[in-house]
Amino acid sequence: MPFYEYRCNECGEAFEKMLRFSEADQLPVCPKCASPNTQKKLSKVVSFGASSSGSTSSASSSCSPRGGFS
Ligand SMILES: [Zn+2]
Repeated sequence: MPFYEYRCNECGEAFEKMLRFSEADQLPVCPKCASPNTQKKLSKVVSFGASSSGSTSSASSSCSPRGGFS
């Protein structure tokens, strides 16, 4: 879940909140003065380290020379 930083426009309190993606559009109230007049600051999105290791090994086929049939 990503952290979002908010700032209160009333008292200038900066706080951060961890929200679900479905709640990301909602602005929380200030924990200090309980004012809904808050704005979202820069969002620090925690990226999940999804490392996919996949290597395709192509087998090299050596074609043997066929003997001439005459
Ligand atoms: Zn406030």
